[in-house]
Amino acid sequence: MPGMRITVTGAAGQIGYALLFRIASGAMLGDEPVRLRLLEVPAAVGAAEGTAMELVDCAFPLLESVDVFDDAGTAFDGAQIALLVGARPRGPGMERSDLLEANGAIFAPQGAAINARAADDVRVLVVGNPANTNALIAASHAPDVPADRFSAMTRLDHNRAVAQLAARTGARVGDVSRVTIWGNHSTTQFPDLAHARISGEPVAVDSSWVEDDFIPTVARRGAAIIEARGASSAASAANAAIDHVRDWVQGTSPHDWTSAGVISDGAYGVPEGIVSSFPVTSDGTGWRIVDGLEIDAFARSRIDASVAELLEERDAVRSLGLI
Ligand code: NDP
Repeated sequence: MPGMRITVTGAAGQIGYALLFRIASGAMLGDEPVRLRLLEVPAAVGAAEGTAMELVDCAFPLLESVDVFDDAGTAFDGAQIALLVGARPRGPGMERSDLLEANGAIFAPQGAAINARAADDVRVLVVGNPANTNALIAASHAPDVPADRFSAMTRLDHNRAVAQLAARTGARVGDVSRVTIWGNHSTTQFPDLAHARISGEPVAVDSSWVEDDFIPTVARRGAAIIEARGASSAASAANAAIDHVRDWVQGTSPHDWTSAGVISDGAYGVPEGIVSSFPVTSDGTGWRIVDGLEIDAFARSRIDASVAELLEERDAVRSLGLI
């Protein structure tokens, strides 16, 4: 069997540099051989070729091939996994509508190329921000690909929430389960500990810590890292992308769930058709939203606030003709 065809966009960027070597080493798909297809804008193709040379130089036993493209159609040809990392960053003085429009110009054609050229079983993870709405744009340009094959990354927020809870309680990270990120991958996200467990037992943490410390720390962690490091969180974002795809393909553990932005089917009062983060499990074939969780008034208001932002983004891209 030839290796899995994996297309990575924005391959010459910071996240790409932290991501590709781990994919090639087997961190994402285990012992499965991989064929990497790197997409970049023409100006960054040279840098992507440099990264490809380094990948070759690692002599990874699982890496069958690495190719660089500046054309989306060719890059997504036969793709079984697509990691959409490249996006247009917000420039000085750029309004949100400008950002959405600039990203629409990237994610609409990429969705169309996936529709036309990717493998029938393609799975697409959108990392580039605004990730939820970029995933919505890409999915809506891929009418022949089931919408549940597109997801947006909130796994880094999820991992940050797990780590913060472990630090607060003194538990080991591996003993923390059932943490949830709801809503948008933005500062309105709702990291939720109401159903969290440590070593299988419900967690008692005081609500003032949750509201005044935990939630803002998780939601603003990206900004704190930029301030401390002078650059955005690339390695932890790449790690989260690896975790996301690995759990999607290999399945989540039986007593836990993870968080991912998926197309809402109306669950938990989140309007159908927007890409929102939910608690999800996978049996290896696809994401399934965890059902039956109780949502109290506090959680309701936080989820509703983040969903309101997603609806605004959806309405903005709709009025721009992007979906
Ligand atoms: P990064 O590799 O650091 O980031 C790429 C994207 O991931 C950004 O949109 C970034 O959002 C997002 N992201 C999501 N989660 C996180 C997180 N937790 N921490 C940091 N970033 C996160 O960007 P670079 O500028 O280094 O590289 C981008 C590359 O993409 C460039 O090489 C560029 O040429 C390429 N590109 C490729 C395209 C294509 O293949 N067609 C199209 C557009 C760009 P945020 O901006 O909010 O940090």
